[in-house]
Amino acid sequence: MATVKDFSVEEKLASLVKLQKIDSKLDEIRILQGELPIEVKDLEDEIHGLTSRKNRIEEEINGINEFIEQKRNAIKEAEALVKKYEKQSESVKNNREFEAINKEIEMQQLEGKLADKHIRDANEELADKARLLEQAKKQIASKESVLNHKKGELEKIIGETEKEENEYIQLAADARKGMDDRLIYSYDRIRKSYRNGLAVVPVMRDACGGCFNAIPPQRQSEIRQRKKVMVCENCGRILVDDDLNNATEVK
Ligand SMILES: [Zn+2]
Repeated sequence: MATVKDFSVEEKLASLVKLQKIDSKLDEIRILQGELPIEVKDLEDEIHGLTSRKNRIEEEINGINEFIEQKRNAIKEAEALVKKYEKQSESVKNNREFEAINKEIEMQQLEGKLADKHIRDANEELADKARLLEQAKKQIASKESVLNHKKGELEKIIGETEKEENEYIQLAADARKGMDDRLIYSYDRIRKSYRNGLAVVPVMRDACGGCFNAIPPQRQSEIRQRKKVMVCENCGRILVDDDLNNATEVK
């Protein structure tokens, strides 16, 4: 059996404060990184959606252009037919034939007018689509510039904090080694139950540094004596006096 050194309450409290400071530093680093990867991912998704939209508009524009080309050909065909019938009408043999040819000419002229109207409508639609396309392109460009900025920021933070994070992970592991299992268990349980990850807090301005509940002078004096582990009656966090908190350094 390894000999376990019997730590005083004061030493136990000091190591708890130290562990808390290390863990808080790790929380800080992770919060800093934590938001950016999500923001980058969201922006990438948005750009992906906008790009699909842009591609769809471009396909629609191609479709409209094809339609206009078809209608232009239809006009040419109608004009050619009108010319052909006009030539035929010069050599008609009777009234009936003349009327029949005239009807054909009228029909082709109507076809031509209709195609013309279709082209005009299509051109209007084309202008609308061009506006939408321009809009989508602008949105993509602005999202891309934000994305590049965020990506740069993220890479910088990861580059800067990676070494620091690993150092603190090591420090936390070291700090836990010599500590009382029961105390570690309580510490982890309290830490997990609060969003800010604070399980050990100093008494600040006669109140708990975690929940700001007032602490009576009698309890404050007990805390300062460092003879037993005291917890806040309101939030359950482990309380230490301000001097001990300030005297404990992480590195
Ligand atoms: Zn409290």
